[in-house]
Amino acid sequence: MSFDQLTFDNPAERYSHLKGKKQKQPLPGLDRDLDPQADHGEESYRGTGRLQGRKALITGGDSGIGAAVAIAYAREGADVVINYLESERTDAERIGGLIEHEGGKAVLIAGDIRHRDFCRELVAKAVDALGGLDILVNNAGHQVFHEDFTDISEDDLDRTMKTNVYAMFWITQDALQHMGPGSTIINTSSVQSYKPSPVIIDYATTKAAIVGFTKGLAMQLAEQGIRVNTVAPGPVWTPLQVTEGQPQEKLESFGEVTALGRMGQPVEMAPAYVFLASPESSYVVGETINVNGGMPVP
Ligand code: NAD
Ligand code: MG
Repeated sequence: MSFDQLTFDNPAERYSHLKGKKQKQPLPGLDRDLDPQADHGEESYRGTGRLQGRKALITGGDSGIGAAVAIAYAREGADVVINYLESERTDAERIGGLIEHEGGKAVLIAGDIRHRDFCRELVAKAVDALGGLDILVNNAGHQVFHEDFTDISEDDLDRTMKTNVYAMFWITQDALQHMGPGSTIINTSSVQSYKPSPVIIDYATTKAAIVGFTKGLAMQLAEQGIRVNTVAPGPVWTPLQVTEGQPQEKLESFGEVTALGRMGQPVEMAPAYVFLASPESSYVVGETINVNGGMPVP
């Protein structure tokens, strides 16, 4: 689909030709090798200048939802820093290259956010490269399934907690040193915050924590004019799912549980992140926007 064709079509049919398939990639996975290929808005996201001149840091911006947010932010006029893991360079360069090709600014900073020192370095480098920071999108995440709760090892738990929760605390603490009134922080939670799957209890725990973090921090920062919100996606076709994020058999019916009866595409998440970053959402504080194809949650 290209944005010339963007029509008021039937949302149950949009992308319904794209079905999940059994496949396995080693962590952290690449969009390059995802089958079918996902839509990050390359052809389908149309910007309208809503983030002109803003400076954004997006963790996990190389692939999946983060890549769609990076493309959308750039087309809305923002300069972006994309953080990713070194082994994801191919994906990061594709997204960065696309943005630069369109005349935008995209700076790539590789590194593992499970390390406190790297988080500090990431924010410092981002501020340096962009000349400041107005938007932080905490999006990087780790999800690996375990059929049996007692099989979650200490290392598994540590990786999930560090990536999804600790890094969010650390990067946000560092970013706040540079953010002023009108800045926005957008976290990525999940439908898993409300409807946890029994095979990803550690992951679901972190996603519920992100909702709590968002509400609490939003209350503290509102008087400084900094808004904090979260987007809670439903089942979206990304590398996260094929790097043991789901059991193989669940990949084939991925997303069919939603009211629309299909999985979501990363580009379908992007407008919520754009809305929460733009001044159009000035009265939206501590909120969770559910973008899940119809999985009613609180
Ligand atoms: P994805 O694999 O494309 O993105 C996750 C990114 O996290 C990776 O690209 C990687 O760069 C980054 N990452 C992981 N560990 C890291 C580390 N230690 N250091 C630095 N970066 C690291 O998958 P996605 O589905 O787009 O995931 C993005 C966010 O969306 C995650 O927070 C995920 O929990 C959330 N989410 C996804 C879904 C879904 O169905 N795909 C649903 C709800 C929420
Ligand atoms: Mg990736």
